[in-house]
Order: sequence, then C-alpha cells, then structure tokens
Amino acid sequence: MAQALRTIASVVRDDFDTSFFVFRPKALLRAAHFFGQHFKANCLFAVKTNPEAVVLTHLYHAGIRRFDVASIDEVAHVRRLFHDAELYFMHPVKPRHAIRRAYFEFGVRHFSLDSERELEKILQETDFAQDLTLHVRLSIPNTYAELTLAEKFGCNLQEAPQLIKKVSEKVARVGICFHAGSQCMHPDAYRIAIRMVAEVVEQSEVQLDFFNVGGGFPSIYPGMIPPYMEDYFEAIHHEFARIPHYEKMTLLAEPGRALVAECMSLIVRVELRKGNMLYINDGTYGSLFDAGTPRFIYPVKLICDEEIYSRDLAAFSFYGPTCDSLDYMKGPFYLPNDTEEGDFIEIGQMGAYGRTMATRFNGFHPSDTLVYVKDEPLMTMYRDDEEISDEQLEIIAA
Ligand SMILES: *Cc1c(COP(=O)(O)O)cnc(C)c1O
Repeated sequence: MAQALRTIASVVRDDFDTSFFVFRPKALLRAAHFFGQHFKANCLFAVKTNPEAVVLTHLYHAGIRRFDVASIDEVAHVRRLFHDAELYFMHPVKPRHAIRRAYFEFGVRHFSLDSERELEKILQETDFAQDLTLHVRLSIPNTYAELTLAEKFGCNLQEAPQLIKKVSEKVARVGICFHAGSQCMHPDAYRIAIRMVAEVVEQSEVQLDFFNVGGGFPSIYPGMIPPYMEDYFEAIHHEFARIPHYEKMTLLAEPGRALVAECMSLIVRVELRKGNMLYINDGTYGSLFDAGTPRFIYPVKLICDEEIYSRDLAAFSFYGPTCDSLDYMKGPFYLPNDTEEGDFIEIGQMGAYGRTMATRFNGFHPSDTLVYVKDEPLMTMYRDDEEISDEQLEIIAA
C-alpha cells in the first residue's frame, strides 16, 4: 500500500524521539527515468547504496531490472522481491558457499573476479557450469573521485590481458568491469578509464561480450556541484563507440548514489546547542558516517512552518549522540542562527549510503519508520526533467 504523501513539516509535529528517514517516491522515479531516457547503458542498480524494498520496487517499476549485488543476503533479498530480476554478483572476493547458493538456489549467472584463484573458486562451486558470464574487474586510477575504490579490488592493467584470456578459455561469455571511484566530479574520469581499459582488452585479443563502466555517477552537495549528468553519459557513449567492434559488446553501468541520493532525507532533532555546535540525535555511528571522516557536507534545512529565508544563517558543526568524540561532523552546515534545542533539521541527499550504515553503538539508532513525503529534494541533479504524476505512484503501490 502506498502511504499518503505528507509534508515534512506536518510529520515532525508527531514528535519523534529518534532520528528517522523520509522517502520521496517522485524523486526516485525522476532519477531512474532520467537514466533510462538519456543513458544507452543497461543499468544495474548497486544494491548496497540503498537496499530498502520500497526503493528497489520503485526502480524495478521504472525499468531497472538488473541489480549489482555483493553478498548472499543481497542476492536473496532481491530475488525474494523480483523472481525475474537479473542478478550480477559483482564482489570480486566471494565465500564459496555464497557462489554455490547464488548459482544453484538463486539463478545467478553473472559473477565478477579479479584473480585466477577466484576463477577457480567460481568454476568449482558452480560444478563447471557452461552458462556463466564472468566479468574481470580491473583496477584503474580513481583520480577524479571523492572516494577512491582503486586499492582494494581489481587486477592491475599489466596482468589483466592474461587473466581475460584465461577466463575466455573457461566460460561462454566474458566481460570487464571497473569502478572510477565514488562521486566522480568530472566526466573525464570515464573517458580516461575507458581508454585505458580498451587498450587492455585489445592486448588480450578476446572479443568481449560485456563492457561495464561501473558506478561513480555523482550527486549534488553543497560545495560539490558536478557537471551535468548528460555530460557523463555523453563521455561514455563517445569513448565506448571508439572501441573496435564495440557493437558486439553490451554496455553496462552500475549507478548507485546518483539514482537514490535525492530520494531520502534524514530528520534529526537538536538536543543541545553550545555556541555553533549542535548536539543532534544521529551521527557517524548512525546514518551520518560519510559526514564524519569522509567529510561529506550534506544540504540541511531547519524544519518550521514560517518563512525562514529572511533569517541570518550561521555555520554549524554537529556532534552525534554517542559518547565517542569521533562522532563529530565538521560541516559547515548552514542553518538559521537562532536554531535551538528542540528544533528539527532535515539533512538531504541521505538516500545513498545513509539508510543502512547505522550501528546500535551506545544504544542510539535511527527509527525504522519511513515516512513518505512530497517535499522536493533540497538539491537536485534532475531539476529540468519530467514531472512524475500521482497515477504513476499508485501503479507502483498496487
Ligand atoms: C559501490 C559500488 C557501486 C556504486 O557506486 P556509486 O559510486 O554509488 O555509483 C557500483 N559498483 C560497484 C562494484 C560498487 O562496489
């Protein structure tokens, strides 16, 4: 059942004692449709970004039927929701039992790897299946990304041609994948990566079936305003079409953040003010991990009925509720300078890497409640795009 869409201001009067998330179905559909209309790649949604069932369901209805999963629990979760979804198990290091169950119990046929040892594991645990597609993960420099993902996974470019060749001798279909890093601030990240990878592929002398440019598509944050999303798509389309025999390959991408960031906000309450420090009821051990050491600056808004645009703003930092001093979010977060204890604050762009990060450290954790709202996102990459109608939302809820 669809919840009726409310305004955030009307919700906080319910006086929640813990932080909670609000969900904007329209913002999620808008992002998914934008990718569907402007991007020629088949998109796999990176489930770790936001595995909430209602999020996956909306994406599915918007046409995203492929999912990038990294654990057997994610595999089972998505399969339970959609019997016909195509699952790509894209973690390059998988437990043996997870490979076996994914293949035999959940129908997974796509796996990634970055080493010969993992290739052996996959072949053994699928009883040398003939219908596998294996995607070789390459390590490329994450020069333009806010969060680098280059070190942990990926075969280096010198050894990659050999590994690609070996994989192609063992299975029916082969792809390559890479990740340019999360929150890529320039489309050149993809241009450079695709050129480097294309060279490796050529050296391998294998005709690939899949070419996967990974995730990394940005969202918009204060002080971190990326170029237009279309520019990223155009860069990828252009570079991909320069690869010899590109038309024999299926182009894949694994967007996470860019699809879901805008669809949720976190609502927190100020428990105390000391100077320009606000003690709030969520923090880095809760939903706000990325506001801690990674120092993401999220858009914020004081929730109140009156017009506040005339009020002076001040730069605040936040402390979270636990007793640990790492539970600190430097910001700056700009809020009206008379913000006080008992005020509620909306923290935007929390749909990506927010909902599932919370621990129960010190007895604090956000509420499980998810309230559907109609307020527009605090910042958006998709402002000029189509309006989503109420009818479209009702179809999904039915
Ligand atoms: C996390 C992850 C993604 C999603 O990345 P975003 O930067 O959120 O788009 C995609 N692919 C892989 C393999 C990942 O680990």
